[in-house]
Amino acid sequence: MKLEHIGIATKGIEDALSFWRDALGLEVAATEEVTEQGVRVAMLPIGDTCVELLEATNDDSPIAKFIEKRGAGVHHLAVRVPDIRAALERLRERGVRLIDHAPRAGADNCLVAFIHPSAANGVLVELVEHTEGTGKDT
Ligand code: ZN
Repeated sequence: MKLEHIGIATKGIEDALSFWRDALGLEVAATEEVTEQGVRVAMLPIGDTCVELLEATNDDSPIAKFIEKRGAGVHHLAVRVPDIRAALERLRERGVRLIDHAPRAGADNCLVAFIHPSAANGVLVELVEHTEGTGKDT
């Protein structure tokens, strides 16, 4: 496993880039809109992991709701697993509360599933499995 990325809810990616890219010096490796989740994302590699900037594309987006409740900030940690279905099965067997019981499509052709924050000390955890198409387009 590795820390795939740290998801940060922003009010707008363009605005957020004035810190993460322009001031701190990270580079944007990819941007993408994930329609199913109502978000636009920008990936900025940092060491073996990435900062994932998230922006809501509609009012029903989980990011819009998060920002409404808590403001911009760290939204989730993403853990890369080799087999997301096996990981979910293992968690389910242990009684861990899940948001997604089956994997769904995430950015960059990954499969993703979220674990409920109540199971992880208040932290929303995203599982990510890379699939064959991962890393091809930006
Ligand atoms: Zn993420």
